Amino acid sequence: MPFLIFLFLSLIITIFFIVRNLIQKKYTVFVLQNSIYLKKLQEINCKYKFFSHIDFNQSHTYDNENFYCDITCLDYLIYQLQFISTKVIDQINKEKQNNRLYTEYQKEVVALEVGKFLIDIGKLKYDKLVATEKRLINQTIFAKPHTNFYIAVTLFCSQINGRIYAKKNEIYYADDILALIKRLRNRNGTFYNDRAIWDSICRVERGKVSNKMRFSIYQRDGYRCRKCGVSGRHAQLEVDHIIPIAKGGKSTYNNLQTLCHKCNVEKGDNLY
Ligand SMILES: [Zn+2]
Repeated sequence: MPFLIFLFLSLIITIFFIVRNLIQKKYTVFVLQNSIYLKKLQEINCKYKFFSHIDFNQSHTYDNENFYCDITCLDYLIYQLQFISTKVIDQINKEKQNNRLYTEYQKEVVALEVGKFLIDIGKLKYDKLVATEKRLINQTIFAKPHTNFYIAVTLFCSQINGRIYAKKNEIYYADDILALIKRLRNRNGTFYNDRAIWDSICRVERGKVSNKMRFSIYQRDGYRCRKCGVSGRHAQLEVDHIIPIAKGGKSTYNNLQTLCHKCNVEKGDNLY
């Protein structure tokens, strides 16, 4: 007997939902066919096209705590802007255009009126029609596009096994980024006229020699000074930039060599 009651109740509930869905569908169809707001909104939507967002966020993990402490998020951004500034400027302009267009779009949309229909609503309930219309408007109206360009820079510090134990993060907005790009473009061949910009770039370039890279340079050079040949067992070995960073050298395998501390000090900023 309880089973029959259960079955009966289930049937009632099912019928209730079916009827409710049919009524809702009737309202949805009416609104889609007759809402003046929705028709005008679709026309307005056709006129606008917004640029999509491109993520320029930067992150890097240092396995050397000295470099991690020495290099700021701003240094890292400046370094990366050397390679991405053209694309960044393009995206900043697109998001400025988004901002302008979206303001115009909002002005047009605000002028529209809810609850006006092309034909008489007959026996349908006005409140329910308006609620349905609002739901459909929310589905049709364009979401706010990206208008406030930014780049988030995150630097991590990890142990040599990759476990991260420290992190720092900064966000930079369009005006600051454009000012940095302007300073970066003030250059003479491969060198930057702005001292602070040049210092940032050198710090990040130096930081590119990770501990992992350092050990593979030692290994490649047989754990010996490439100048005097002393072994790592008898002297402190260091990784040296053959063309110094201050003279435009990069932290690449071909530009790195193992030197003992003594030879490294003697070499200074000379090239050999
Ligand atoms: Zn040496």
